[in-house]
Amino acid sequence: MNWQDEIKNSITSIDALTNRGFSARSVENPRAMRITPHILSIMDKDVENCPIGRQFVPCMEEGIVNKKELTDPVCEAPCIKDEVLVHAYDDRGLIICSLECPTYCRYCFRKRMVGDNQAWFARHQYLTALAYLKNTPQIHEIILSGGDPLMRSDDWLDWLLSEIEKIESVRVIRIHTRVLSTLPSRITGEICNIFNRHSKLKYLNTQINHPKEITKESIHAIGMLRRAGISIGNHAVLLKGVNDNIKTLKALCLGLYHAGVIPYYLFHADYTPGISHFRTTIKDGMALHHKLQGWISGLAVPVYAFDTPRLRKVWMNPSYVKEMGKGRYKLTNFRGETMIYDENDLIL
Ligand code: SF4
Repeated sequence: MNWQDEIKNSITSIDALTNRGFSARSVENPRAMRITPHILSIMDKDVENCPIGRQFVPCMEEGIVNKKELTDPVCEAPCIKDEVLVHAYDDRGLIICSLECPTYCRYCFRKRMVGDNQAWFARHQYLTALAYLKNTPQIHEIILSGGDPLMRSDDWLDWLLSEIEKIESVRVIRIHTRVLSTLPSRITGEICNIFNRHSKLKYLNTQINHPKEITKESIHAIGMLRRAGISIGNHAVLLKGVNDNIKTLKALCLGLYHAGVIPYYLFHADYTPGISHFRTTIKDGMALHHKLQGWISGLAVPVYAFDTPRLRKVWMNPSYVKEMGKGRYKLTNFRGETMIYDENDLIL
């Protein structure tokens, strides 16, 4: 099946899922749901206990929203220019290419905008973003993100990459996509040829959270991208009931490393509303991370980090995290700014 047909044949409701013999509970007004045939093929019929199903199938706990949770959990809205460009870090810019994804993660940090609104942004908004980049030479790196940028057509991606490459001050382009896990058929010879033609496109970061997601189709897609000259990293999210045990985390990091993907980040679940059933404690996260160091190749050990609302990314190691007792922590970022994180407000 080609990737467009996979999207057309995806599961978009609990009823459609249960009709296929999966044991999911119905949920009132869930936010957008879509599961590709590829993801369905690696899900267990018992959805609740399946580490893949748990990531993508709506559940009742999503309705439990704590008052400290935030619809914009990393506070990027103030940094958005003309809807499509996020300028949150001095030397990097992020372009929102799409509001769609092949499969919707239940814990998505951009769920305020991703999934429920299927409209594309207009070309003139991208032209404004490109003009901003031309006038802001301290930005040397552009990240294409979304939603999933690979939901865009080959021609559109070719156009945007060409326009970005014309900007002299931009040295590196990076793509963030989850298709290596959710829709590996999207990595075609044609898209690899396009990527190969754009010399500033050097990196692609994906999101794979469980070793079961490293399928033979994913490994094939990874090989194609690597042969097209793209280096691949992974942004995993530490998720309760999915990968919060050392056996799974080790298998994930080694599986990625063996496939040619650097396990770059392991993110602590953020302030997104309705995801307290996915959050681990910081103490457990740090203990798990500690158990990876030395036991597997250093290149296979991710940085454990927390994308916070005010401080942006905080690296979760004793230099930046001070435990204050009773689930309270003092977090410090790269600028030396601090905040108190109280997990009693955010964990079920
Ligand atoms: S792939 Fe990323 S943007 Fe898409 S639903 Fe998952 S977390 Fe959100």
